[in-house]
Amino acid sequence: MAATGKMLQKGKGGMRMVPVNESSASPFTLPEPSWIPDAQCQSCIQCQGKFDFLNRRHHCRRCGKCFCDTCSSAKVLLPRMLYVDPVRHCAGCTAVSKKENDFFEKHIKALMTGGAFSVNQTGETNDNDTVYTCKLSSDHRHLHFENEHRRLDDISLTDIDSLQIWTEEKDSDVLQPRKGKGSNPLASGLAMKYKDSCGEMQLVKMVVAGQNKRQGQCWVASMQKAFKMIHDSRTSIR
Ligand SMILES: [Zn+2]
Ligand SMILES: [Zn+2]
Repeated sequence: MAATGKMLQKGKGGMRMVPVNESSASPFTLPEPSWIPDAQCQSCIQCQGKFDFLNRRHHCRRCGKCFCDTCSSAKVLLPRMLYVDPVRHCAGCTAVSKKENDFFEKHIKALMTGGAFSVNQTGETNDNDTVYTCKLSSDHRHLHFENEHRRLDDISLTDIDSLQIWTEEKDSDVLQPRKGKGSNPLASGLAMKYKDSCGEMQLVKMVVAGQNKRQGQCWVASMQKAFKMIHDSRTSIR
C-alpha cells in the first residue's frame, strides 16, 4: 500500500507540510514558482528601487519575482503552496491569496460539512431520487455519497468535467439552468459530468433535499467555487 500522510519540509521559502505521496496531494495545491535568479533583477519591479547592500532583494513566495522589503512586506497564509506559516507576498499576490484564503475558510468547510441531496446517477433505474449526504473528504480529493443503507462510489474532484447549477424559479417547481449573473437566485441542485474509476463519462444529478435546505444550497455554491478554482489553476499551469 502506498504511503500516506504528510511531512514537514524546509524549503527555500519557509516550512511546508507536504504529502509523503505525491498522488495524495490536495487538488487545490499549486506548484511553487521558480524564483527569478538574483543576477537577473537589479531593482524592485514594483518601485524600481535599486538593490544594494542596504536595499536587499526578496522573493514573493507566490509569483517568485524580486521585490524590495517594503514592496513585499505582507505576510499572508499560502495553503495552496503548503506553507505552514504566513509568507512574504507582493501586493498583487496578497490580493489573490487573501481571496483564496476566504474560500478555504468558508467554502471548503461547507463542502466538508456536507449537504443532503436526492441523487440520480447514470445507469440508475430503480433507485432514483434516494437521499444521500454528500461531503468532501478531509484530503479534499473525493466526494462521498452516503446514507444509512448505502454508499455510492466516490467522485474524484479532479475527474469532474463540467458542472451545471440549477435554480428554483419562484412559484414554480421547474428546475432551470442558472441564467447569467444578476438576481442570483438560490441553487436548488446541480448536474456534474465526471469520469468514473474506469474512465467512463458519467452524469450525476443532485437536488437539494432534507430538512436543512439552506445547507444544501450553500454546498452547491461552494462546489461551484471549488470547481472553478481547480479549473483555473489547471489552465494557468498549461
Ligand atoms: Zn519596492
Ligand atoms: Zn507576487
